[in-house]
Amino acid sequence: MGFDIYCRVSEVGGRGGESFASSEEQEAAARAWAEQAGEEVDEVVEELDVSGSLAADARELGRLIHRVEAGESEGVIVRYVDRFGRDMVENALAHDRIVAAGGRLIATASGYDSANLNADTRMIFHIQSAIAQAQRERNRESRMAGKERAVARGVYGAPAPFGYDRDDDGRLQPNRGADSVREIFRLRAEGVGFSDIARRVDGVLTRSGVRRVVMNRAYVGEQRIPDPAKKGNPRVIPKSHQPLVTEAEWEAANAVKGHAPTHNGLAAKTYLKGIVRCGICGGTMHVCAYGKARDKMTYACTSGCGGTSMSVAKVEPAVLYQLDLAVAQRAPQVAAVIEGDNRYADALASVEDAKAALAEYRDNIELQQVLGVSDFIAGLRTRKEAVETARRALRDVPRPEPVGSRKMTLEEFDVEDRRRFYQRVIAEVLVFPRSEPQRLRMRWQGAENSIVVQPFKPVKLAQADPIAELQKAA
Ligand SMILES: [Zn+2]
Repeated sequence: MGFDIYCRVSEVGGRGGESFASSEEQEAAARAWAEQAGEEVDEVVEELDVSGSLAADARELGRLIHRVEAGESEGVIVRYVDRFGRDMVENALAHDRIVAAGGRLIATASGYDSANLNADTRMIFHIQSAIAQAQRERNRESRMAGKERAVARGVYGAPAPFGYDRDDDGRLQPNRGADSVREIFRLRAEGVGFSDIARRVDGVLTRSGVRRVVMNRAYVGEQRIPDPAKKGNPRVIPKSHQPLVTEAEWEAANAVKGHAPTHNGLAAKTYLKGIVRCGICGGTMHVCAYGKARDKMTYACTSGCGGTSMSVAKVEPAVLYQLDLAVAQRAPQVAAVIEGDNRYADALASVEDAKAALAEYRDNIELQQVLGVSDFIAGLRTRKEAVETARRALRDVPRPEPVGSRKMTLEEFDVEDRRRFYQRVIAEVLVFPRSEPQRLRMRWQGAENSIVVQPFKPVKLAQADPIAELQKAA
Protein backbone atom coordinates (compact mmCIF):
# COMPACT_ATOMS: atom_id res chain seq x y z
CA MET A 1 0.00 0.00 0.00
CA GLY A 2 1.27 3.46 -0.84
CA PHE A 3 0.40 7.13 -1.13
CA ASP A 4 -1.68 8.97 -3.72
CA ILE A 5 -0.52 12.24 -5.28
CA TYR A 6 -2.96 15.10 -5.78
CA CYS A 7 -2.09 17.93 -8.22
CA ARG A 8 -4.39 20.84 -9.00
CA VAL A 9 -4.04 23.57 -11.63
CA SER A 10 -6.85 26.07 -11.65
CA GLU A 11 -7.98 28.36 -14.47
CA VAL A 12 -5.44 30.67 -16.04
CA GLY A 13 -7.19 33.80 -14.70
CA GLY A 14 -6.98 32.46 -11.17
CA ARG A 15 -3.28 31.70 -11.17
CA GLY A 16 -1.24 33.55 -8.69
CA GLY A 17 0.89 33.31 -5.63
CA GLU A 18 4.34 31.83 -5.28
CA SER A 19 2.99 28.29 -5.20
CA PHE A 20 1.87 28.26 -8.80
CA ALA A 21 3.49 25.34 -10.55
CA SER A 22 2.51 23.09 -13.40
CA SER A 23 0.94 19.78 -12.67
CA GLU A 24 4.17 18.01 -13.67
CA GLU A 25 6.22 20.07 -11.23
CA GLN A 26 3.75 19.26 -8.46
CA GLU A 27 3.91 15.55 -9.24
CA ALA A 28 7.73 15.56 -9.43
CA ALA A 29 8.00 17.18 -5.98
CA ALA A 30 5.58 14.65 -4.49
CA ARG A 31 7.47 11.72 -6.03
CA ALA A 32 10.75 13.10 -4.68
CA TRP A 33 9.29 13.14 -1.18
CA ALA A 34 7.99 9.54 -1.52
CA GLU A 35 11.37 8.41 -2.85
CA GLN A 36 13.18 9.94 0.09
CA ALA A 37 10.71 8.56 2.62
CA GLY A 38 10.83 5.12 1.02
CA GLU A 39 7.10 5.15 0.28
CA GLU A 40 5.26 3.76 -2.71
CA VAL A 41 3.14 5.93 -5.04
CA ASP A 42 -0.16 4.45 -6.17
CA GLU A 43 -2.42 6.92 -7.92
CA VAL A 44 -1.69 10.34 -9.35
CA VAL A 45 -4.69 12.60 -9.77
CA GLU A 46 -4.38 15.79 -11.76
CA GLU A 47 -7.25 18.27 -11.70
CA LEU A 48 -7.33 21.13 -14.18
CA ASP A 49 -9.51 24.21 -13.90
CA VAL A 50 -11.13 23.09 -10.69
CA SER A 51 -11.55 25.74 -8.03
CA GLY A 52 -9.85 25.11 -4.72
CA SER A 53 -12.87 26.62 -3.00
CA LEU A 54 -14.89 23.45 -3.65
CA ALA A 55 -15.41 20.78 -1.03
CA ALA A 56 -13.21 17.72 -1.45
CA ASP A 57 -16.15 15.55 -2.50
CA ALA A 58 -16.95 17.98 -5.30
CA ARG A 59 -13.47 17.26 -6.66
CA GLU A 60 -11.41 14.17 -7.45
CA LEU A 61 -9.73 14.77 -4.10
CA GLY A 62 -12.83 13.31 -2.48
CA ARG A 63 -12.15 9.97 -4.13
CA LEU A 64 -8.59 9.91 -2.80
CA ILE A 65 -9.86 10.62 0.72
CA HIS A 66 -12.36 7.77 0.33
CA ARG A 67 -9.45 5.49 -0.54
CA VAL A 68 -7.76 6.47 2.74
CA GLU A 69 -11.00 5.87 4.62
CA ALA A 70 -11.40 2.48 2.92
CA GLY A 71 -7.88 1.50 3.95
CA GLU A 72 -6.74 1.41 0.31
CA SER A 73 -4.20 4.21 0.63
CA GLU A 74 -1.82 5.52 3.28
CA GLY A 75 -2.48 9.16 2.54
CA VAL A 76 -2.36 12.08 0.13
CA ILE A 77 0.70 14.03 -1.00
CA VAL A 78 0.39 17.59 -2.33
CA ARG A 79 3.09 20.13 -3.05
CA TYR A 80 1.47 23.05 -1.18
CA VAL A 81 -1.49 23.29 1.17
CA ASP A 82 -3.16 25.65 -1.37
CA ARG A 83 -3.13 22.80 -3.93
CA PHE A 84 -5.06 20.72 -1.40
CA GLY A 85 -7.67 23.49 -1.30
CA ARG A 86 -8.29 27.22 -0.95
CA ASP A 87 -11.08 27.20 1.60
CA MET A 88 -10.24 27.19 5.31
CA VAL A 89 -13.29 25.24 6.42
CA GLU A 90 -13.25 22.69 3.61
CA ASN A 91 -9.52 22.18 4.07
CA ALA A 92 -9.95 21.51 7.79
CA LEU A 93 -12.78 19.03 7.14
CA ALA A 94 -10.84 17.14 4.48
CA HIS A 95 -7.67 17.13 6.61
CA ASP A 96 -9.50 15.74 9.63
CA ARG A 97 -11.14 12.98 7.56
CA ILE A 98 -7.69 11.77 6.49
CA VAL A 99 -6.33 11.93 10.03
CA ALA A 100 -9.43 10.23 11.51
CA ALA A 101 -8.99 7.35 9.05
CA GLY A 102 -5.41 6.89 10.22
CA GLY A 103 -3.93 8.37 7.02
CA ARG A 104 -1.42 11.17 6.43
CA LEU A 105 -1.56 14.44 4.56
CA ILE A 106 1.81 15.62 3.28
CA ALA A 107 2.55 19.07 1.82
CA THR A 108 6.10 18.68 0.55
CA ALA A 109 7.13 22.32 -0.01
CA SER A 110 6.34 23.44 3.53
CA GLY A 111 7.26 20.14 5.14
CA TYR A 112 3.77 19.71 6.57
CA ASP A 113 3.02 16.14 7.69
CA SER A 114 -0.15 15.35 9.61
CA ALA A 115 1.71 12.45 11.27
CA ASN A 116 3.30 15.15 13.46
CA LEU A 117 -0.07 16.61 14.39
CA ASN A 118 -0.16 18.73 17.55
CA ALA A 119 -1.61 22.11 18.52
CA ASP A 120 1.22 23.98 16.80
CA THR A 121 1.32 22.00 13.56
CA ARG A 122 -2.48 22.14 13.31
CA MET A 123 -2.29 25.92 13.66
CA ILE A 124 0.30 26.05 10.86
CA PHE A 125 -2.03 24.03 8.62
CA HIS A 126 -4.90 26.44 9.39
CA ILE A 127 -2.72 29.48 8.71
CA GLN A 128 -1.60 28.07 5.38
CA SER A 129 -5.23 27.39 4.48
CA ALA A 130 -6.18 30.94 5.49
CA ILE A 131 -3.44 32.36 3.28
CA ALA A 132 -4.65 30.16 0.41
CA GLN A 133 -8.20 31.42 0.86
CA ALA A 134 -7.10 35.07 0.99
CA GLN A 135 -5.13 34.55 -2.21
CA ARG A 136 -8.22 33.12 -3.91
CA GLU A 137 -10.27 36.14 -2.83
CA ARG A 138 -7.58 38.53 -4.05
CA ASN A 139 -7.51 36.76 -7.41
CA ARG A 140 -11.23 37.20 -7.69
CA GLU A 141 -11.03 40.87 -6.80
CA SER A 142 -8.36 41.54 -9.39
CA ARG A 143 -10.45 39.73 -12.02
CA MET A 144 -13.38 41.94 -11.05
CA ALA A 145 -11.23 45.09 -11.30
CA GLY A 146 -10.17 43.97 -14.78
CA LYS A 147 -13.80 43.55 -15.71
CA GLU A 148 -14.63 47.01 -14.41
CA ARG A 149 -11.87 48.55 -16.51
CA ALA A 150 -13.25 46.78 -19.58
CA VAL A 151 -16.78 47.94 -18.76
CA ALA A 152 -15.52 51.51 -18.42
CA ARG A 153 -14.21 51.21 -21.99
CA GLY A 154 -17.74 50.24 -23.07
CA VAL A 155 -17.13 46.49 -23.32
CA TYR A 156 -20.30 44.49 -22.64
CA GLY A 157 -19.54 41.82 -20.07
CA ALA A 158 -22.19 39.27 -21.03
CA PRO A 159 -23.48 37.66 -24.23
CA ALA A 160 -25.07 40.23 -26.53
CA PRO A 161 -28.84 40.48 -25.95
CA PHE A 162 -31.24 39.95 -28.87
CA GLY A 163 -31.09 42.97 -31.19
CA TYR A 164 -27.39 43.63 -30.60
CA ASP A 165 -24.07 42.23 -31.81
CA ARG A 166 -20.71 42.70 -30.16
CA ASP A 167 -18.20 44.50 -32.37
CA ASP A 168 -14.47 43.69 -32.45
CA ASP A 169 -13.93 45.79 -29.33
CA GLY A 170 -16.64 43.94 -27.41
CA ARG A 171 -19.08 46.87 -27.55
CA LEU A 172 -22.75 46.34 -28.33
CA GLN A 173 -24.00 47.51 -31.73
CA PRO A 174 -27.65 47.29 -32.82
CA ASN A 175 -28.23 44.69 -35.51
CA ARG A 176 -31.19 43.81 -37.74
CA GLY A 177 -33.11 42.54 -34.71
CA ALA A 178 -33.17 46.05 -33.20
CA ASP A 179 -36.40 47.01 -34.98
CA SER A 180 -38.05 43.87 -33.65
CA VAL A 181 -37.03 44.88 -30.13
CA ARG A 182 -38.63 48.30 -30.58
CA GLU A 183 -41.77 46.65 -31.96
CA ILE A 184 -41.90 44.29 -28.96
CA PHE A 185 -41.77 47.22 -26.53
CA ARG A 186 -44.40 49.14 -28.53
CA LEU A 187 -46.83 46.19 -28.60
CA ARG A 188 -46.28 45.37 -24.94
CA ALA A 189 -46.97 48.99 -23.94
CA GLU A 190 -50.32 48.63 -25.71
CA GLY A 191 -51.08 45.68 -23.47
CA VAL A 192 -50.50 42.87 -25.98
CA GLY A 193 -49.69 39.52 -24.33
CA PHE A 194 -46.25 37.91 -24.64
CA SER A 195 -47.51 34.96 -26.72
CA ASP A 196 -49.26 37.30 -29.13
CA ILE A 197 -46.14 39.41 -29.49
CA ALA A 198 -44.05 36.29 -30.16
CA ARG A 199 -46.45 35.38 -32.98
CA ARG A 200 -46.51 38.86 -34.45
CA VAL A 201 -42.81 39.79 -34.32
CA ASP A 202 -40.88 37.80 -36.92
CA GLY A 203 -41.22 34.51 -35.18
CA VAL A 204 -37.65 34.23 -33.89
CA LEU A 205 -38.45 34.62 -30.22
CA THR A 206 -40.53 32.38 -27.98
CA ARG A 207 -43.02 33.69 -25.47
CA SER A 208 -40.41 33.62 -22.70
CA GLY A 209 -37.85 35.16 -25.06
CA VAL A 210 -40.18 38.11 -25.59
CA ARG A 211 -40.70 38.37 -21.85
CA ARG A 212 -36.94 38.48 -21.26
CA VAL A 213 -36.58 41.25 -23.85
CA VAL A 214 -39.24 43.38 -22.16
CA MET A 215 -37.63 42.96 -18.74
CA ASN A 216 -34.04 43.53 -19.88
CA ARG A 217 -32.62 46.91 -18.86
CA ALA A 218 -29.87 46.54 -21.49
CA TYR A 219 -32.31 48.04 -24.00
CA VAL A 220 -32.20 51.44 -22.28
CA GLY A 221 -28.40 51.34 -22.60
CA GLU A 222 -27.63 50.01 -19.15
CA GLN A 223 -25.16 47.35 -18.22
CA ARG A 224 -25.20 45.47 -14.92
CA ILE A 225 -22.10 43.97 -13.41
CA PRO A 226 -21.83 42.01 -10.17
CA ASP A 227 -20.68 44.07 -7.22
CA PRO A 228 -18.29 42.01 -5.08
CA ALA A 229 -19.15 44.19 -2.06
CA LYS A 230 -22.90 43.53 -2.36
CA LYS A 231 -23.85 40.04 -3.41
CA GLY A 232 -27.01 39.82 -5.50
CA ASN A 233 -27.10 43.59 -5.90
CA PRO A 234 -25.41 44.36 -9.21
CA ARG A 235 -23.83 47.69 -10.05
CA VAL A 236 -25.65 49.57 -12.80
CA ILE A 237 -23.58 51.27 -15.50
CA PRO A 238 -25.82 53.74 -17.34
CA LYS A 239 -25.16 54.86 -20.94
CA SER A 240 -22.98 51.82 -21.53
CA HIS A 241 -24.11 51.40 -25.13
CA GLN A 242 -26.65 52.70 -27.63
CA PRO A 243 -30.19 52.24 -26.23
CA LEU A 244 -32.98 50.80 -28.38
CA VAL A 245 -35.85 52.22 -26.32
CA THR A 246 -36.28 55.26 -24.10
CA GLU A 247 -36.76 55.09 -20.35
CA ALA A 248 -40.44 55.97 -20.82
CA GLU A 249 -40.93 53.22 -23.41
CA TRP A 250 -39.32 50.68 -21.08
CA GLU A 251 -41.51 51.72 -18.14
CA ALA A 252 -44.65 51.69 -20.27
CA ALA A 253 -43.98 48.15 -21.48
CA ASN A 254 -43.15 46.92 -17.97
CA ALA A 255 -46.20 48.50 -16.37
CA VAL A 256 -48.55 46.15 -18.21
CA LYS A 257 -50.21 43.59 -16.00
CA GLY A 258 -50.07 40.03 -17.20
CA HIS A 259 -53.41 38.69 -18.36
CA ALA A 260 -54.12 35.03 -17.78
CA PRO A 261 -54.62 33.43 -21.18
CA THR A 262 -58.22 32.63 -21.96
CA HIS A 263 -58.59 28.86 -22.10
CA ASN A 264 -62.22 28.42 -22.94
CA GLY A 265 -64.53 30.15 -25.34
CA LEU A 266 -66.91 31.12 -22.56
CA ALA A 267 -64.97 34.20 -21.51
CA ALA A 268 -65.26 35.49 -25.07
CA LYS A 269 -69.02 35.74 -24.57
CA THR A 270 -68.71 37.92 -21.50
CA TYR A 271 -67.93 41.60 -21.22
CA LEU A 272 -66.39 41.89 -17.79
CA LYS A 273 -64.02 38.93 -17.68
CA GLY A 274 -60.82 39.93 -15.90
CA ILE A 275 -62.36 42.73 -13.83
CA VAL A 276 -64.88 40.64 -11.88
CA ARG A 277 -63.26 39.63 -8.60
CA CYS A 278 -64.19 37.58 -5.59
CA GLY A 279 -65.35 39.86 -2.75
CA ILE A 280 -63.82 37.53 -0.16
CA CYS A 281 -60.34 36.77 -1.47
CA GLY A 282 -59.98 39.33 -4.26
CA GLY A 283 -59.09 36.65 -6.81
CA THR A 284 -60.14 37.10 -10.43
CA MET A 285 -63.30 35.09 -11.05
CA HIS A 286 -63.45 32.62 -13.90
CA VAL A 287 -66.33 31.99 -16.25
CA CYS A 288 -67.84 28.51 -15.87
CA ALA A 289 -70.64 26.92 -17.84
CA TYR A 290 -73.53 25.08 -16.21
CA GLY A 291 -76.96 23.76 -17.09
CA LYS A 292 -77.89 20.76 -19.22
CA ALA A 293 -76.79 22.36 -22.47
CA ARG A 294 -73.85 24.08 -20.72
CA ASP A 295 -75.32 27.28 -22.11
CA LYS A 296 -75.60 29.17 -18.82
CA MET A 297 -72.56 30.94 -17.50
CA THR A 298 -71.47 31.96 -14.06
CA TYR A 299 -68.60 33.94 -12.59
CA ALA A 300 -66.99 31.70 -9.98
CA CYS A 301 -64.04 32.06 -7.63
CA THR A 302 -61.83 29.14 -8.56
CA SER A 303 -58.39 30.55 -7.83
CA GLY A 304 -58.71 31.79 -4.28
CA CYS A 305 -61.18 30.75 -1.63
CA GLY A 306 -63.84 29.33 -3.93
CA GLY A 307 -66.43 31.01 -1.74
CA THR A 308 -68.54 32.93 -4.24
CA SER A 309 -70.22 32.67 -7.58
CA MET A 310 -72.91 34.59 -9.44
CA SER A 311 -74.41 34.08 -12.84
CA VAL A 312 -73.11 36.25 -15.65
CA ALA A 313 -76.72 37.17 -16.42
CA LYS A 314 -76.98 38.79 -12.98
CA VAL A 315 -73.58 40.44 -12.82
CA GLU A 316 -73.22 42.04 -16.22
CA PRO A 317 -76.58 43.75 -16.81
CA ALA A 318 -76.44 45.28 -13.30
CA VAL A 319 -72.93 46.63 -13.78
CA LEU A 320 -73.55 47.81 -17.33
CA TYR A 321 -76.75 49.56 -16.27
CA GLN A 322 -74.68 51.40 -13.63
CA LEU A 323 -72.30 52.36 -16.41
CA ASP A 324 -75.14 53.58 -18.63
CA LEU A 325 -76.30 55.81 -15.81
CA ALA A 326 -72.79 57.17 -15.34
CA VAL A 327 -72.49 57.88 -19.07
CA ALA A 328 -75.86 59.62 -19.11
CA GLN A 329 -74.90 61.72 -16.08
CA ARG A 330 -71.42 62.34 -17.49
CA ALA A 331 -69.84 61.09 -14.28
CA PRO A 332 -66.29 62.44 -14.16
CA GLN A 333 -64.42 59.10 -14.28
CA VAL A 334 -66.35 57.90 -17.30
CA ALA A 335 -66.32 61.24 -19.08
CA ALA A 336 -62.56 61.42 -18.72
CA VAL A 337 -62.15 58.12 -20.54
CA ILE A 338 -64.62 58.98 -23.28
CA GLU A 339 -63.07 62.36 -23.93
CA GLY A 340 -59.50 61.11 -23.71
CA ASP A 341 -57.56 61.73 -20.54
CA ASN A 342 -53.95 62.10 -19.54
CA ARG A 343 -53.95 60.03 -16.37
CA TYR A 344 -51.66 57.57 -18.08
CA ALA A 345 -49.19 60.22 -19.25
CA ASP A 346 -49.26 61.76 -15.78
CA ALA A 347 -48.59 58.42 -14.10
CA LEU A 348 -45.72 57.76 -16.47
CA ALA A 349 -44.26 61.18 -15.67
CA SER A 350 -44.58 60.45 -11.93
CA VAL A 351 -42.48 57.31 -12.32
CA GLU A 352 -39.83 59.28 -14.16
CA ASP A 353 -39.85 62.02 -11.53
CA ALA A 354 -39.51 59.53 -8.68
CA LYS A 355 -36.64 57.79 -10.43
CA ALA A 356 -34.88 61.06 -11.13
CA ALA A 357 -35.25 62.06 -7.48
CA LEU A 358 -33.80 58.72 -6.40
CA ALA A 359 -30.84 58.97 -8.79
CA GLU A 360 -30.06 62.54 -7.76
CA TYR A 361 -30.16 61.64 -4.07
CA ARG A 362 -28.07 58.53 -4.52
CA ASP A 363 -25.35 60.40 -6.42
CA ASN A 364 -25.11 63.18 -3.87
CA ILE A 365 -21.96 62.35 -1.97
CA GLU A 366 -21.94 65.57 0.09
CA LEU A 367 -25.46 64.82 1.28
CA GLN A 368 -24.30 61.45 2.51
CA GLN A 369 -21.50 63.13 4.51
CA VAL A 370 -23.89 65.67 6.00
CA LEU A 371 -26.63 63.20 6.93
CA GLY A 372 -24.51 60.34 8.15
CA VAL A 373 -24.91 56.79 6.95
CA SER A 374 -28.10 55.71 8.72
CA ASP A 375 -30.08 58.85 7.84
CA PHE A 376 -28.83 58.64 4.28
CA ILE A 377 -29.99 55.02 4.02
CA ALA A 378 -33.41 55.94 5.43
CA GLY A 379 -33.76 58.69 2.82
CA LEU A 380 -32.71 56.26 0.12
CA ARG A 381 -35.35 53.78 1.22
CA THR A 382 -38.08 56.44 1.14
CA ARG A 383 -37.13 57.39 -2.41
CA LYS A 384 -37.02 53.76 -3.54
CA GLU A 385 -40.48 53.25 -2.11
CA ALA A 386 -41.70 56.35 -3.95
CA VAL A 387 -40.53 54.80 -7.22
CA GLU A 388 -42.35 51.56 -6.42
CA THR A 389 -45.53 53.42 -5.49
CA ALA A 390 -45.44 55.38 -8.73
CA ARG A 391 -44.89 52.18 -10.69
CA ARG A 392 -47.85 50.52 -8.99
CA ALA A 393 -50.02 53.53 -9.79
CA LEU A 394 -48.93 53.37 -13.42
CA ARG A 395 -49.91 49.71 -13.55
CA ASP A 396 -53.38 50.56 -12.27
CA VAL A 397 -54.05 53.46 -14.60
CA PRO A 398 -56.07 52.50 -17.69
CA ARG A 399 -53.95 52.38 -20.80
CA PRO A 400 -54.60 54.94 -23.51
CA GLU A 401 -56.22 53.77 -26.70
CA PRO A 402 -53.74 53.02 -29.46
CA VAL A 403 -53.23 56.10 -31.62
CA GLY A 404 -55.60 56.31 -34.53
CA SER A 405 -58.58 54.57 -32.98
CA ARG A 406 -61.76 56.32 -34.03
CA LYS A 407 -64.13 57.93 -31.63
CA MET A 408 -67.56 56.43 -31.60
CA THR A 409 -70.62 56.09 -29.47
CA LEU A 410 -71.10 53.21 -27.06
CA GLU A 411 -73.54 51.52 -29.44
CA GLU A 412 -71.03 51.45 -32.30
CA PHE A 413 -68.49 49.49 -30.30
CA ASP A 414 -68.10 45.87 -31.26
CA VAL A 415 -67.68 43.32 -28.49
CA GLU A 416 -63.90 43.63 -28.26
CA ASP A 417 -64.03 47.43 -28.19
CA ARG A 418 -66.73 47.40 -25.55
CA ARG A 419 -64.69 45.09 -23.40
CA ARG A 420 -61.67 47.33 -23.68
CA PHE A 421 -63.78 50.37 -22.85
CA TYR A 422 -65.22 48.66 -19.75
CA GLN A 423 -61.73 47.77 -18.56
CA ARG A 424 -60.62 51.37 -18.94
CA VAL A 425 -63.54 52.74 -16.96
CA ILE A 426 -64.14 50.03 -14.35
CA ALA A 427 -61.30 49.13 -12.01
CA GLU A 428 -63.06 46.11 -10.54
CA VAL A 429 -66.40 44.48 -9.88
CA LEU A 430 -66.67 42.63 -6.56
CA VAL A 431 -69.02 39.69 -6.01
CA PHE A 432 -69.97 38.79 -2.43
CA PRO A 433 -71.59 35.58 -1.16
CA ARG A 434 -75.33 35.16 -0.79
CA SER A 435 -75.15 35.83 2.95
CA GLU A 436 -74.28 39.49 2.29
CA PRO A 437 -77.09 42.03 1.90
CA GLN A 438 -75.29 43.75 -1.01
CA ARG A 439 -73.83 41.18 -3.35
CA LEU A 440 -72.31 43.45 -5.99
CA ARG A 441 -69.97 46.41 -5.69
CA MET A 442 -67.89 48.16 -8.31
CA ARG A 443 -65.10 50.72 -8.35
CA TRP A 444 -64.40 53.18 -11.16
CA GLN A 445 -60.83 53.49 -12.40
CA GLY A 446 -59.06 56.15 -10.37
CA ALA A 447 -61.72 56.14 -7.64
CA GLU A 448 -60.80 55.47 -4.02
CA ASN A 449 -63.96 53.70 -2.94
CA SER A 450 -66.32 51.19 -4.44
CA ILE A 451 -70.06 51.75 -4.85
CA VAL A 452 -72.99 49.38 -4.39
CA VAL A 453 -74.49 47.96 -7.59
CA GLN A 454 -78.21 47.31 -7.33
CA PRO A 455 -79.61 44.17 -8.97
CA PHE A 456 -80.82 44.98 -12.46
CA LYS A 457 -84.57 44.70 -13.04
CA PRO A 458 -85.56 45.04 -16.68
CA VAL A 459 -88.05 47.89 -16.98
CA LYS A 460 -91.39 46.50 -18.21
CA LEU A 461 -92.55 48.15 -21.41
CA ALA A 462 -95.78 50.11 -20.87
CA GLN A 463 -98.80 47.99 -21.67
CA ALA A 464 -100.15 49.39 -24.90
CA ASP A 465 -103.33 47.37 -24.83
CA PRO A 466 -106.22 49.85 -25.09
CA ILE A 467 -108.82 47.27 -24.10
CA ALA A 468 -106.98 46.36 -20.93
CA GLU A 469 -106.60 50.04 -20.13
CA LEU A 470 -110.29 50.54 -20.61
CA GLN A 471 -111.16 47.51 -18.47
CA LYS A 472 -108.89 48.83 -15.73
CA ALA A 473 -110.54 52.20 -15.88
CA ALA A 474 -113.99 50.70 -15.75
ZN1 LIG B 1 -62.57 33.85 -3.52
